[in-house]
Amino acid sequence: MHARFSREDEAFRAEVAGWLEANLAGEFERLRGRGGPGDEHALYEERRAWERRLGRDGWIGIGWPKEVGGRGLPLSQQVVFYEEYARAGGPGRVGHIGEGLLGPTVIHFGSAQQKREILPDILSGDAVWCQGYSEPSAGSDLANVQTRARREGHTWVIDGQKVWTSGAAWADWCFVLCRTNPDVPKHKGLSYLLVPMRQEGIEIRPIVQMTGDSEFSEVFFDGARTGVENTVGEPGEGWKVAMGTLSFERGASTLGQQMSFQNELEQIFEIARENGAAQDPIMRQRLANAWIGLRIQRYNALRTLSGGDGAALPPEAMITKIFWATWHRDLGKLAMDVLGQASEIAPGAPYALSGLQRMYLFSRSDTIYAGSNEIQRNIIAERALGLPREPR
Ligand SMILES: Cc1cc2nc3c(=O)[nH]c(=O)nc-3n(C[C@H](O)[C@H](O)[C@H](O)COP(=O)(O)OP(=O)(O)OC[C@H]3O[C@@H](n4cnc5c(N)ncnc54)[C@H](O)[C@@H]3O)c2cc1C
Repeated sequence: MHARFSREDEAFRAEVAGWLEANLAGEFERLRGRGGPGDEHALYEERRAWERRLGRDGWIGIGWPKEVGGRGLPLSQQVVFYEEYARAGGPGRVGHIGEGLLGPTVIHFGSAQQKREILPDILSGDAVWCQGYSEPSAGSDLANVQTRARREGHTWVIDGQKVWTSGAAWADWCFVLCRTNPDVPKHKGLSYLLVPMRQEGIEIRPIVQMTGDSEFSEVFFDGARTGVENTVGEPGEGWKVAMGTLSFERGASTLGQQMSFQNELEQIFEIARENGAAQDPIMRQRLANAWIGLRIQRYNALRTLSGGDGAALPPEAMITKIFWATWHRDLGKLAMDVLGQASEIAPGAPYALSGLQRMYLFSRSDTIYAGSNEIQRNIIAERALGLPREPR
């Protein structure tokens, strides 16, 4: 394992830090630290402008191949970028689903026309995407998707419902997993469609979450339309493409998020020192454990980086999601215990929570989205350890 970044990586780190220092200034200064999990509504229009600034200077799609407009940077430098971004307090990215999920899917599975028409708007920060997989009866059991699409000439007509769609209220486009053939086995009748969100036939109903915000929504399709050229892969190949997207979800950005965890942990340490919580022996132990857990994440990230071939992630990466999600959910609880009675009072009326309170409430979902802990264990068992498949 190489526990260090190379000299080129460190030079790149200085370039990223310098750019962030110069650009997270002026009109964008107040975005620092805003728009993260549980704070998605904050300064939304300003964050869209920031996304365009990132795009203008070539900071979106830095790991994408050069042929499609990316920078083709190695995984280590992608991690460096995310680390520096978090260190500088860079705001929650409105374009992360397009950059991290849909873009790589189109690069891998899309047609030449899709690459030409879809990728530039993600790279420039102009198009915001959302992910239309989950339904009331299709979460972990994703192959059970019931939203239907039928062909009418050169158009798909879509009816059904998605739920928990993050960012749907703001998105321009959604990648929607649809059943296009009900007469074949579940996994074989699905197609992966790219659907414009602003059209008659799509109704978005925000769901109010514990944080008081609505980061996700229900999305109802009632005769919504998209062209057949917006099918990624062949009709009936949706399962394969959808699984491809999920593998990108476990990619480089999750490795770099440790720096924002570090920011949260330092805030908790500071409060513990100030309010005396750090004098309590049990609390001291929990604080130390949290610090150790974060170091483990860092070394696992470095191990993962040095174990891969520079592009693809090795099997060890499969533990990343369950580890960070469980650790971060526990950090939320620790934050509230350190705050003590103050954790129960919203600092602003009528329901304006502090950053740590929002973090605590949102962190309850860490072990659910992007594959619940139970599903992650199944993935590790079957794909990394080669244990027998779960009975179906
Ligand atoms: C904050 C947040 C944002 C989200 N954003 C999106 C989004 O943008 N787009 C989208 O499509 N979806 C999104 N989701 C949905 C998310 O993908 C699902 O919640 C998740 O896949 C779990 O599905 P479910 O909620 O239907 O729970 P279920 O699948 O019904 O699971 C219920 C419980 O049963 C367990 N379980 C299920 N199957 C098994 C099994 N085979 N073995 C062992 N245990 C099992 C689960 O682990 C869980 O504890 C989001 C969810 C959250 C919380």
